[in-house]
Amino acid sequence: HTRCFSACSATAKDASGSRPLANTLTLIPGGTRGIGLATAKLFASQGSRIVLLGRDQDRIQRVLQYELTPLDSAEGFGHLGYQCDVSKQGEIEKTIKEVNKISPIDFLIHSAGIARDSLLIAHGSEDMANVIMTNLMGTMWTNKAVAKGMMRQKKGAIINISSVVGIQGNIGQSVYSASKSAIIGFSKSLAKELGSRGVTVNVIAPGYIDTDMTSTISEDRKKDIVSRTSLGRLGTPEDVAEAALFLAKAKFITGQVLVVDGGLSL
Ligand code: NDP
Repeated sequence: HTRCFSACSATAKDASGSRPLANTLTLIPGGTRGIGLATAKLFASQGSRIVLLGRDQDRIQRVLQYELTPLDSAEGFGHLGYQCDVSKQGEIEKTIKEVNKISPIDFLIHSAGIARDSLLIAHGSEDMANVIMTNLMGTMWTNKAVAKGMMRQKKGAIINISSVVGIQGNIGQSVYSASKSAIIGFSKSLAKELGSRGVTVNVIAPGYIDTDMTSTISEDRKKDIVSRTSLGRLGTPEDVAEAALFLAKAKFITGQVLVVDGGLSL
């Protein structure tokens, strides 16, 4: 009876289109603030062990200590965080090697990113390079470092955070937009490369989300943005986290761009 029951439940699990979150490991570069933090909280609440990456060690410690639902059955350790600059390939590789020693990575939600807005003709060269190194190279390096393990496991889901600005363009954001549209082409290609191993790669393109990144936008500009959304508000980090959870669970969706913008781009 017992044998029959477990065989039946295994079949039912395989047939489901949903990946379970419990007893998984989720790596979130940029998980210390904004969209990444909301995603870390949501995934932790579903029983996934979170590994945060960010540059601010104090902030990492605060999130680990106060913001994440503790794991029920932490086998020797709970959620983790590493000080790691995603724009530096060496730091990423070293960090992912450490994480792999602990456990295979089931989900990668790459949320680390920066914005340095300027009209192109006035754009500082260092800022231009930093945006590309952090947003684009950082995404490619974490994806590269994680992909091998996922291929070996024959499972996993990668979700890269782009932006509606990467689809539509925006005045003062040509370089940021370049970094974000490149993430889309990159993710679609990687989805083709990893699909035969059961690994999915998708992109979320958020509209304007209320985080540190958008905190310097003037009230007038915010009003204008809100007036152009169908839903009549800015997004919350939690709005994007829900989309990340959906894509992490979905086994048969890959190479897609999910726009989470309240109708801004309609
Ligand atoms: P926040 O500024 O609130 O958070 C950014 C996160 O990325 C922080 O945890 C930050 O930690 C981390 N980070 C930045 N640079 C690096 C780096 N070099 N190495 C490691 N971690 C880094 O931004 P949001 O949450 O708003 O944005 C998250 C993602 O969503 C970004 O890619 C952004 O471009 C994108 N996005 C945001 C939108 C919005 O309206 N907010 C709209 C569309 C897209 P620390 O500084 O400690 O390193």
